[in-house]
Amino acid sequence: MLTNGDGVLKVANEAGFAVPAFNISDYAMFAGIAELCEELQAPWIVAIHPDEYDHIGPDMIKAILARAYRSSVPMAIHLDHGGTYEQVLTSIQNGYTSVMIDASVKPFEENVAITKKVVETAHAVGLSVEGELGTIGANDSYGESGATEVIHTTPEDAVTFVEQTGVDSLAIAIGTFHGLYPAGMKPELKLDLLKEIKAAVPIPLVLHGGSNNPDREIGIAAHTGINKINISSDIKVAYHSKMREVLGDDPKLREPLMIQPACVEAMNVVAAQKIELFGAAGKAELYR
Ligand SMILES: [Zn+2]
Repeated sequence: MLTNGDGVLKVANEAGFAVPAFNISDYAMFAGIAELCEELQAPWIVAIHPDEYDHIGPDMIKAILARAYRSSVPMAIHLDHGGTYEQVLTSIQNGYTSVMIDASVKPFEENVAITKKVVETAHAVGLSVEGELGTIGANDSYGESGATEVIHTTPEDAVTFVEQTGVDSLAIAIGTFHGLYPAGMKPELKLDLLKEIKAAVPIPLVLHGGSNNPDREIGIAAHTGINKINISSDIKVAYHSKMREVLGDDPKLREPLMIQPACVEAMNVVAAQKIELFGAAGKAELYR
């Protein structure tokens, strides 16, 4: 079933697990993940970054919506890292059920102002909004561009931000990094900080960029206040590594149906492990 972001995350917040948000910009990958989530009876979120939207265009959103309507598990369609008010409007027009506005690299007051504006608009049409506070570093184009430094979110700022903007969920910086980590960087999640933030703002919290953080830490976070975890690099690496292997240097291989299934299977091994780690497997029944 097609569900709005708030609908998916509220249940996760009450039950103490994290919903996986998979970044998708390819139909074979999308269809594979959709099937896997049904198999595991896990609620999930299709996350589409503006760059990914530029790649797939509005027609594929219609296909994603059609799949969501007949899905046996709750599914939300989410704008990942919306950078402008216009991108949010385009997403609403296209039928997304959840949006993120990320103005986290802007000064606090500016972040509040644009997030508040997005919340007013999205709430008027029944959609929920994810904001971001603090700086999750990035070495790919999917996070705050150029932000290589991590600035942790503070509980005090989180309280003020949520009060002033009315966001439904909040992406926080507690020691993750977008994309694959630069060599020499040792990721460490600040689990105590997570506890403090959750106690201060009991709304669903979101983790971006946890690709290289240890599973143990991610698992704890998913059960102590994080209710949505973005997965992008990990599934894309699994898919395309397998594709390289399948293609090898065989010039006769050309049919997608001969190439893609093994790649989807390899990707789904990684995705399934995440779904289990987040505690999302079998949770679709909580939505009935
Ligand atoms: Zn992100």
